[in-house]
Amino acid sequence: MLKIENLHATVADKPILKGLSLAINAGEIHAIMGPNGAGKSTLSYVLGGRPGYEVTGGSATFDGQDLLDMDPHERAAAGLFLGFQYPVEIPGVSNVQFLRESLNAQRKARGEEPLSGGDFLKLAREKAGLLKLDMDMLKRPVNVGFSGGEKKRNEMVQMGILDPKLAILDETDSGLDIDALCVVGDGINAIMRRPDKAVLLITHYQRLLDYVRPDFVHVLAGGRIVKSGGPELARELEAHGYAEIAA
Ligand code: ADP
Ligand code: MG
Ligand code: MG
Repeated sequence: MLKIENLHATVADKPILKGLSLAINAGEIHAIMGPNGAGKSTLSYVLGGRPGYEVTGGSATFDGQDLLDMDPHERAAAGLFLGFQYPVEIPGVSNVQFLRESLNAQRKARGEEPLSGGDFLKLAREKAGLLKLDMDMLKRPVNVGFSGGEKKRNEMVQMGILDPKLAILDETDSGLDIDALCVVGDGINAIMRRPDKAVLLITHYQRLLDYVRPDFVHVLAGGRIVKSGGPELARELEAHGYAEIAA
């Protein structure tokens, strides 16, 4: 589904990704762990097509299409979802408006009919229930005044509504207490653990991986994948730190 080969990227002319390769098949959950500043967020921004993140070499394909050649909205319409380490606030736009417009823009790009207001609300209610987020929160401006945990649960509601093929989740566990972590983990499993979908979980800590069990764990250090393994690698990292493993 996603094939990244020898990817190089710079931010503000500084080389950050330096030959990163990774392949993710449908049905798989991959985790990327790594020290602060390793380039984890940069990888997710590059895959999402964020301005300012310049690809200087290598390739990335999504379902066989050249991902790096697509606009951010084309990537989303093709089924790529990015969850951010720091979700944005959008004052003046309600979650419901934002989500319905996002969903219908993606449906339009795929040549599908827009969802009616009623059908959309039904869908939103179902996904909010899954993430234990009150429907009232969905009527408020996007993320404004939301706690860290509410932002992350809201983001997972977005993911449930947009129903992507591939979700790249950057430190979705940061700022979550144990209860919220469990709800978010269950949400990721319910929405994304399917044979036709895949997840790339970027995380600093092992604890989310107790809830969303990855099939593969990779260590990103110095802008490349320096080690890959199964779920046990996450525990090794937690026990011994990155310095030893990445050395
Ligand atoms: P991680 O998510 O693994 O902690 P990042 O991808 O956020 O790492 O950052 C990788 C490196 O890129 C860091 O050294 C960081 O300082 C640098 N970096 C990220 N964004 C910018 C930017 N906008 N301008 C300059 N340097 C940046
Ligand atoms: Mg960081
Ligand atoms: Mg980061």
